Amino acid sequence: TSTSTSTTRGDKICVCVRKRRLSPKEVLRMEHDAVTCLHPTATVHSARLRVDGISKYCDHNTFVFDHAFDEFSSTEDVYRHAARPLVRYVCAGGAAGGDGSGNGNGVPRGTVFAYGQTGSGKTYTMGGIQRMVAEDIFSILAGNGNGNGNGNNRLDGNSVKIGFSSEDTAVSVAIFEIYGGRIQDLLNNRNRLKVLEDGKGEVVVSGLEEFAVSSPREFLSLIERGQNNRTTHATEANDVSSRSHAICQILFRDKSNAGWRLRGKLSLVDLAGSERGNDTKSHDRQRRTESSEINTSLLALKECIRAIDGGSGHVPYRQSKLTLILKDCFVSKLARTAMIATLSPGSNSTDHTLNTLRYADRIK
Ligand code: ADP
Ligand code: MG
Repeated sequence: TSTSTSTTRGDKICVCVRKRRLSPKEVLRMEHDAVTCLHPTATVHSARLRVDGISKYCDHNTFVFDHAFDEFSSTEDVYRHAARPLVRYVCAGGAAGGDGSGNGNGVPRGTVFAYGQTGSGKTYTMGGIQRMVAEDIFSILAGNGNGNGNGNNRLDGNSVKIGFSSEDTAVSVAIFEIYGGRIQDLLNNRNRLKVLEDGKGEVVVSGLEEFAVSSPREFLSLIERGQNNRTTHATEANDVSSRSHAICQILFRDKSNAGWRLRGKLSLVDLAGSERGNDTKSHDRQRRTESSEINTSLLALKECIRAIDGGSGHVPYRQSKLTLILKDCFVSKLARTAMIATLSPGSNSTDHTLNTLRYADRIK
């Protein structure tokens, strides 16, 4: 048998949707459930009153994804299908695509995005995924992966070591947020950071603190710290977390090398709420600027993901700080991406839900 080393776009990008159940608030507002997820499809039912105000009709819009998780799915289900293959891929040093040496082909990267309107479950889903990543990577590094997927093959047929182990690889974590065009370190006093692109096309977030972790517990306490720093000045009405992109990066570095050469990177991205369209007409100037910045970055993200493997060679990653920082996820041959679009089921949210589904549909 021959194994092909060529990958298709489908191997590189996984697009899925996750619906949560109606929240108590939505129930109190007498909203009904207007979304149906029946794997692999998601349908939004939007009821509209006719102009005469009497007759109603209902629009159905159905989309097909790699996975559609309904309201009974667990975050573990989502993790297993959307994130774990990327984690395994990176910890295998890029599996078929590379030997983890970082030579020539660059280093393997996995990026998981949560996209959706505020309240749809981005942070809930990403929080769960972060906890599972923390457990998973240390078990893979210890050689205890359970054999699902291809990430824990310590040896291939030629007895060449292809994966990372705790003896040769150090793990560190960095967490930052992009808020109103500013980049702030969530593990270091919200220090303001700069993103630079050097002459060789390397993008660096300068000043970003990276913390070494050697157990899931250490990892999780950093995540908690990052989360606390993110939400300290958030109130319901002025929710910072819904207007910032939060990025958690897990870096795998070569222990045997004095320069701590990068061997792999995972990025878990909790995107800003996608519902900003109306804010652009708001009277609050700051909010208007923030909103247009969010719109710009989410639009740029869509274009960059669409350009992966597109053959055109043009990836418009310079259009926003978000996409500039994530440049390698779009241009590297060893990058894999998962998009989790989260859906609010409430009947008052159908416009936003439809927009979310369209966005996810466009990047498949
Ligand atoms: P977002 O980050 O998109 O604004 P959150 O993740 O904060 O949304 O979710 C909004 C609320 O809904 C939270 O109270 C959260 O606990 C709850 N929630 C979200 N997704 C789920 C889910 N799949 N199952 C149960 N509760 C959920
Ligand atoms: Mg959130």
